Amino acid sequence: MTRIAFIGLGNMGGPMAANLVKAGHSVSGFDLSEASVKSATEAGVTAAASLAEAVRDAECVITMLPKGQHVVSVWTDLATLVTEGTLLIDCSTVDVESAKKAHGLAGIMNCPALDAPVSGGTTGAAAGTLTFMVGGSDAAFTAGKPILEAMGKKIVHCGGNGAGQAAKICNNMILGISMIGVAEAFVLAEKLGLSHQALFDVASTSSGQCWSLTTYCPVPGPVPTSPANNDYKPGFAAALMLKDLMLSQEAASQTGTRTPLGAHAAKLYKAFENTGHGTEDFSAIIRMLRETQAS
Ligand code: NAD
Repeated sequence: MTRIAFIGLGNMGGPMAANLVKAGHSVSGFDLSEASVKSATEAGVTAAASLAEAVRDAECVITMLPKGQHVVSVWTDLATLVTEGTLLIDCSTVDVESAKKAHGLAGIMNCPALDAPVSGGTTGAAAGTLTFMVGGSDAAFTAGKPILEAMGKKIVHCGGNGAGQAAKICNNMILGISMIGVAEAFVLAEKLGLSHQALFDVASTSSGQCWSLTTYCPVPGPVPTSPANNDYKPGFAAALMLKDLMLSQEAASQTGTRTPLGAHAAKLYKAFENTGHGTEDFSAIIRMLRETQAS
């Protein structure tokens, strides 16, 4: 049993904290939203009235927050609140620079630290089947792995500080690009009079095969569990895909890397969000691709 403070009990953090409780850890939770704290307490998390109260006596602090600025701000506050040696883990998806800043703050506090963003969405968070992409020292990874295992089924040590965020950003750039590619193929098939099922049957067993097609198929029918069958209710919201694509573009610009397809995917998801579709599943971009066809 480890005494864990969990900061950020939203759509992802709430069920992740609940799984830590299920695994026998003692979890003290804090969130700015009272509703999030309330639902976490129903799953056995002890409510804390402040960050200070949550981290008092904690052996490990986990943050699951919206953006890099939130993580850096909370980790800055932790400097005066945690004792040396406390393990700090950030599971949010943030830019690589913020992740490295957070590691820097942990270094000043003399605390081992990990950036450990996740893949698997709210379903994976609830089921405890997330994939963790982890950056940090070998010693910090060894200390953090058993805790992450209570929330996920695959824990990958990607390298040093920031490597977890780097892996997450690169993976999601592939995902954004591949979803647009699959959606475009279905739109072209429609124009050619080819049925959705026929294209799926061929591409899913041919060289066009990919996750966006076989797990998250953007048209209803071939994959009954994909959000397309549920009027594109997320799933993984288009706004979150845009956030991750923008992080990839920020990283590309900082490293002088040309990613023309990543840049174009970000532009298309920005247009999708600007027309009021940010809360739909990211596979719903097929609707925009259809609508923008010349008749
Ligand atoms: P969310 O908005 O539901 O939860 C974030 C929580 O952080 C909110 O409850 C908010 O009140 C709280 N918060 C913000 N600032 C705080 C502070 N200073 N102190 C305490 N609490 C604070 O977001 P989410 O969907 O849980 O996502 C969290 C992170 O996980 C994001 O970085 C997101 O990109 C990433 N992520 C989300 C998904 C997904 O499917 N939702 C999948 C993978 C990764």
